[in-house]
Amino acid sequence: MKVKNKNVLVYGLGDSGRAAINLLRKHKAHVSFFDDNLAFREYVGFEREPQKQDYDFVVISPGIKCIGNSLLENFRERKIPIFSELDLAYFFSKGKIVAITGTNGKTTVSMLTNKILRAAGYKTFLCGNIGLPFSAVCEETTKDSVTVCEVSNFQLETTNFFHPQIACILNLKPDHLDRHGSFGEYVEVKSRIAKNMKLRDTLILNFDDETTKLLKIHKKTEFFSKNRLKKGVFLWKSAIFVNKKNVLDVKDIPLKGEKNLENVLASVAICSHFKVSENAIFDAVTNFTPASHRMEILGEMSGVTYVDDSKATNVASTVACVEAFSDKPIFLLMGGHGKEINYDDFFSLKFSLKKVVCFGEESNKIFESAKKFGYDAISFEKFDDAVLWCVNNCESGDFCILSPACSSFDEFSSYAERGERFKGLVLGL
Ligand code: ADP
Repeated sequence: MKVKNKNVLVYGLGDSGRAAINLLRKHKAHVSFFDDNLAFREYVGFEREPQKQDYDFVVISPGIKCIGNSLLENFRERKIPIFSELDLAYFFSKGKIVAITGTNGKTTVSMLTNKILRAAGYKTFLCGNIGLPFSAVCEETTKDSVTVCEVSNFQLETTNFFHPQIACILNLKPDHLDRHGSFGEYVEVKSRIAKNMKLRDTLILNFDDETTKLLKIHKKTEFFSKNRLKKGVFLWKSAIFVNKKNVLDVKDIPLKGEKNLENVLASVAICSHFKVSENAIFDAVTNFTPASHRMEILGEMSGVTYVDDSKATNVASTVACVEAFSDKPIFLLMGGHGKEINYDDFFSLKFSLKKVVCFGEESNKIFESAKKFGYDAISFEKFDDAVLWCVNNCESGDFCILSPACSSFDEFSSYAERGERFKGLVLGL
């Protein structure tokens, strides 16, 4: 892609937008930028009236909401090409791309896949939604490197050219309905990951997820499953099989819960498309530590075990966590900023929970739903009050789990900040 002397607008000044600006400027494009947050208007290069300017193309950051966006509509009406930040990075990249999406497990699978490939001797780049924009590393990729790119629905919304050779959709459950309008729309957006894949490329799907199982979006599709399959990657006799070959025993997987087992199956399925030995898989999996705030056991205080699963920002991820600790007496902290989610989907599953402790903007909605299904629940306006109540009321042997099923933006800037606050409160830091 030639960008030299092109007139380009970058829309959205998050990490990805800023990485796109750097990349474009390095290649001598004339770059201006815009953000709906007018706090950025003092920056040199901020374009106050982008709807009146002419551009060769526009690059959109994942943070920009597309539905009902009049500025995007304006660009479309004027036939100005729109690229996503992923598209831009893709134009500058070399080598193979593995793209991983899904409602939950993306970061875990991306990190584990990267670790296995590295253990097998590949030169890899781990980027995307995980925190390092693809645009920030795309120029370092080489024809023999592998880019493992975690891809979110926000990134895919405006993606038209990004072309992975291997893509994986881990699962699809209701999430981000506030942004996409309906589950059907959300599934459509996620399906864009396969839009540019060719016959020789492979799409990997979860056979145990009722939505991904039925996706017909790419000809060459392979499945992974926790049940025996005729081919593909599956669990059988307490081991992971790639077709007929046993590659890893389940007892060697240190991660908790059924869903993490799915995550390992997905990573093995992806890596089966590379030259990866069983030893490399074994080494990577047995030494794998998930990122913070994902079912992270913080420790025991006065006999109470505290678990930080702040990254669980939708119902399906909270289900995964509660299932992983289902044999424990659980005080479950749920709440935060809602995404038009129905909590009856969670409580109707009839988990055995000692107490549901609700907090934040969604506290009343969660409390009402919990009560409706007969749970013992209590509700707080503020996160801190809910956590401190748990600290004072949990008994020795209890598990106090923060797995909120909501985003954090009512009281925090991110799930990570919420998790750190939890840690500070319960460990008395
Ligand atoms: P993502 O990057 O998609 O948000 P993560 O790997 O960061 O996924 O995990 C986020 C949360 O989702 C975890 O804290 C855990 O509660 C839950 N989780 C992880 N893997 C899965 C999975 N395969 N299915 C459902 N929930 C999961």
